[in-house]
Amino acid sequence: MQRIQLSKNFYLDEFTRSQVAARHGINMRVAENGVIHHNLRRLCVTVLQPLRDALGPVHITSGYRPPKLNRLIGGSSNSQHQFGQAADIIVSGQTPLDVALWIKYNIKDFDQLIHEFGRWVHVSVSGLNSDPRRQQLTAVKIPKLTMIRKPRTVYVPGLLSVDEALGRAA
Ligand SMILES: [Zn+2]
Repeated sequence: MQRIQLSKNFYLDEFTRSQVAARHGINMRVAENGVIHHNLRRLCVTVLQPLRDALGPVHITSGYRPPKLNRLIGGSSNSQHQFGQAADIIVSGQTPLDVALWIKYNIKDFDQLIHEFGRWVHVSVSGLNSDPRRQQLTAVKIPKLTMIRKPRTVYVPGLLSVDEALGRAA
């Protein structure tokens, strides 16, 4: 099958690969030239390709998520992954915090940029009719010391190390 190119170094199949989707038989097809296809292309052209040109190959750990897949993996109900506006990424040889900071200082039109648990970067572009917010957050897990409560995720403003974010969240 012919790969569908989104920008110089990015292809659609990188955004539709999902073990969970495969295991649950979720259809990951993206209609050619539909809204999701356009959003993914915009994400590549505006953010991911410039990042790739500067720092090297970018690995997409989660791209497009149909609502059913988003629910299964516990994504937030209004997740931009559902519209092809967001990707979770890592770059070999770079810490997620360094990748997030590179995007902050070099890309103008991102919508949301999250340093997630010190493990990966979530980055999105805004919807077609809204302006990019340039929102920057660090996600950390606050352990719960009781038997009933589960650890909860807290989003701290700014791009911080996990320790710094935990300090501010406490
Ligand atoms: Zn994400």
